[in-house]
Amino acid sequence: MNQIKPNSLAARDIAYHLHGYTNAVRQEQEGSLILTEGKGIYVHDENGKAYIEGMAGLWCASLGFGEERLVDAAIRQMRKLPYYHTFSQKTSSVTVELAEKLIGIAPVPMSKVYFASSGSEANDTVVKMVWYYNNALGRTKKKKIISRQKGYHGVTVASASLTGLPNNHRDFDLPIANILHTDCPHYYRYGQEGESEAQFAQRMADSLEKLILAEGPDTIAAFIAEPVMGAGGVIVPPAGYFDLIQPILRKYDILFIADEVICGFGRTGNMFGSQTFKMKPDIVTVAKALSSAYLPISAVMINEKVYSVLRDNSGKIGVFGHGYTYSGNPVCAAVALETLKIYEERNIVDQVRRIAPTFQREMRRFADHPLVGEVRGVGLIGAIELVKNKQTRESFAPQQGIAAQTSKFCQELGLITRGMADGMAFCPPLIITEAEIEEMFRRFSKGLDATWAWVREQGLV
Ligand code: PMP
Repeated sequence: MNQIKPNSLAARDIAYHLHGYTNAVRQEQEGSLILTEGKGIYVHDENGKAYIEGMAGLWCASLGFGEERLVDAAIRQMRKLPYYHTFSQKTSSVTVELAEKLIGIAPVPMSKVYFASSGSEANDTVVKMVWYYNNALGRTKKKKIISRQKGYHGVTVASASLTGLPNNHRDFDLPIANILHTDCPHYYRYGQEGESEAQFAQRMADSLEKLILAEGPDTIAAFIAEPVMGAGGVIVPPAGYFDLIQPILRKYDILFIADEVICGFGRTGNMFGSQTFKMKPDIVTVAKALSSAYLPISAVMINEKVYSVLRDNSGKIGVFGHGYTYSGNPVCAAVALETLKIYEERNIVDQVRRIAPTFQREMRRFADHPLVGEVRGVGLIGAIELVKNKQTRESFAPQQGIAAQTSKFCQELGLITRGMADGMAFCPPLIITEAEIEEMFRRFSKGLDATWAWVREQGLV
């Protein structure tokens, strides 16, 4: 990647392409990894080098790369009806089938599905629905939505506001009004001296209630949470956390939104993370693995309590004035429907449960490494947090770029993983085998040792 030939793809990429979540200066200097093919859990670059995709792309390509049935489903639908929309009482047949299927597998009884193209759009839609819902009920003050520090909900204006990460707010004039953030429930990082996990969970719930009371319960409309925080660092909530949170939401008539964009469709060992953590949301957003990421599609599921209010209000005022050109796109819907069929036929939940113990065991082997502070995860998602000092849990300074360096070493060794803060994340395709898990962590082990040597060379510890 270091010598960029004139007119090469890398050079043209630098010349013409602005990447998201990329340091533009570093990209200009080093270029980008350019992928051309994929098969199973592997992707190949333009030189034919193979990499294990330890992140399933962006936590999404759950069936791996090269699933022909999804290709066929897209082609069939392209030929039949390549496009239709869902405005003014119209839709395509396959979109109806997908909506029915999603309602059938929803983690709690749901009434309707609304389609969009990305997780961000789905969460943006939810913000508008929550506001619309409370306006319809005449509760014009009940508009604030509580998210959590380190939560990730997207990058559009409203969803980036829900996201609780400084990078998504700084220099973007975000968050917008009416979005609040409560504590991040990461016991390893924020648990206090002598505090048990149960006490920590209680403190998190108390802090949420304090925020609600300080703001006034009549101003709080909703609370949004990922079952497992993904981009914030793969943070698994402490035991009992959601059991303590939910009665508070009910007490103050606050809608509960589960962002299942990463956890949905088997990732945590149940079809939905809401089942793993006994969450009973009013609204659920899904995306990513809904189509195994082969085409962009997301969905918002709402329960009858929410739907009935939207319904009555749009009946009164004319239309529900929200919709995207690509909502319910039939080709995306056909691929999603086929994806869900494959999950069912291959019993993806059982598959995750079968393979997860190997994944968790192999990952937890790194707990003793001098660079590792915490290993955490559930099902087929996890993170290995790198620290400067194992005893004090002190992190490396951000400018030392420990996670970026580790990713770079791993990439050289044929493994793609990413650092979420200093947590090296793993979220492989759900089709990964035990032997492939072992190979993935063998490569990571070499990458981590290379990082350890680099850290000492640089005098960082
Ligand atoms: N919610 C969660 C939990 C996510 O992980 C993401 C994406 N990483 C989003 C929402 C936003 O999805 P998208 O990138 O498709 O807009």
